[in-house]
Amino acid sequence: MPDAPTTAPTTAPTPAPTRHQVVILGAGMSGLCMAVQLKRAGQHDFVILEKSEGLGGTWWDNRYPGAHVDVPSPLYSFSFAPNPAWTRRFAAAPEIQAYMHSVAARFGVQPHIRLGQTVREARFDMDSGLWRITTAQGQVFESRFFVCSTGPLSVPRWPDIPGIDSYCGKKLHSAAWDGNVDLKGQRVALIGTGSTAAQLLAPLAQRSAAVTLFQRTANWVLPRIDRPYGALDRALVHLPPYTTAVRAFWYHALEFGRRGFDDGTLARRTLQRTADAHLKRQVPDEALRQRLRPTYALGCKRIIYANDYYPALLQPHVTLVTADIQRIVADGVVTADGRHHPTDALVCATGFDVQHSLSGVNIIGRTQQTLTEAWADGPEARLGLTVAGFPNLFLMLGPNTATGHTSTLLFIEPGVRWALQAMQHVQQSGASFIDVKPAVMRAFNDALQARLQGSVWSQCRSWYRADSGRNIAIWPGFTGEYVRAVAAQDWGEFDFG
Ligand code: NAP
Repeated sequence: MPDAPTTAPTTAPTPAPTRHQVVILGAGMSGLCMAVQLKRAGQHDFVILEKSEGLGGTWWDNRYPGAHVDVPSPLYSFSFAPNPAWTRRFAAAPEIQAYMHSVAARFGVQPHIRLGQTVREARFDMDSGLWRITTAQGQVFESRFFVCSTGPLSVPRWPDIPGIDSYCGKKLHSAAWDGNVDLKGQRVALIGTGSTAAQLLAPLAQRSAAVTLFQRTANWVLPRIDRPYGALDRALVHLPPYTTAVRAFWYHALEFGRRGFDDGTLARRTLQRTADAHLKRQVPDEALRQRLRPTYALGCKRIIYANDYYPALLQPHVTLVTADIQRIVADGVVTADGRHHPTDALVCATGFDVQHSLSGVNIIGRTQQTLTEAWADGPEARLGLTVAGFPNLFLMLGPNTATGHTSTLLFIEPGVRWALQAMQHVQQSGASFIDVKPAVMRAFNDALQARLQGSVWSQCRSWYRADSGRNIAIWPGFTGEYVRAVAAQDWGEFDFG
């Protein structure tokens, strides 16, 4: 028996808050961009609170084998920091992390990062106009501005399959990858067929004895027009006109691709023909092709760009299962056709809880309403940046700022620019806070949802949509439209206090 304590337990005193102008939640791409732009604007009084033990955000969490970006790397770098080190057009996760480290070092962001700090609560105080932010580690911060740069894809979603807790083998989620688990020679069940599973399949097949891929819904797959970058590419990157031209090329090529999400366009027919031809070329067996051919419109779910997905499926030790999963048992997966699929490891590439991406933090606004309560029907904001009732709170990659066609960085940069302007406006006008008017936010979202209704993104189940069916993730327009909407500033749409 342990010895009884000899002294009465004491309650640890709450530490005095550390005060900053800005607290940023999350050291991913958008948190990093915010930090760099604050420094470039001469604002050095900020911290970044990051729950993980390293910089990277999604690129820290999603360190599964084969992880790489699915837009061309020149567009997956900030406009103010081209990367001369990309080794190929579609960079792998470690390269992206290296890029993020180099940007953080170049702009002096690293001293501002507090790793291993999980924000539990953020409460806005109307009297002082400050946010009070508490971490699970017992730290307290106060700040004028609170930037949530966690994005929509930060909370891994485990599948709600009966019996999953009874599984006795190794259990992994792609978005919380444990690199210490050795899958060599194992029989692996891979659940999911989204962008992540498509990247994971070939590397998993390479290292394990057998892979069974459980497909609930087939996905459209386009070829990835990848190529290595050679010495010439890397030398040319140092010439600003070259970098600008390459960025402009990819920007416009992908914007042309955006037309492919609208019915009756040339781009749509081109994308559809390309996807059909890719499937036909890579999967000679007609019966298998039928099982891999989606029955919903291309673009409704995120399109997959992969050259090794179908070939990986054709390997003799890889099996595609399209029967529904009925339950998970101690040693495998049982499907609705009564078959038992024995496995040593379960890999869930089942995506993210987008609807509740911020519910781990108790964010309390000016009327004591929590963000979770405000978002009971699903997240919404104005231009993904501000939520009525939550003054001085700025969301990065907030609701309806994702696209199916281009780089998220193109949405991060204007958002960061606007948040900086808003901060400066508050500071210069002598106000203590800015808060979007509820009617403005309502009108914005009504128009957005009306536009999304009947669009390609409303025609199937995907992470873009909440349980209610409302689209909580997609920006339905072209990138330029978003940039212009954010730049067209009308302070009359906000309350100041
Ligand atoms: P996802 O697109 O949400 O796909 C989840 C997959 O899991 C789907 O195939 C889904 O089937 C399946 N699933 C979920 N619950 C299931 C269940 N209970 N039983 C069986 N299957 C189940 O997630 P993701 O693949 O992780 O990708 C999410 C997003 O992350 C992407 O769309 C992309 O934006 C981003 N991403 C980006 C990159 C990159 O290159 N930068 C790489 C990976 C991911 P249903 O389709 O039937 O729902």
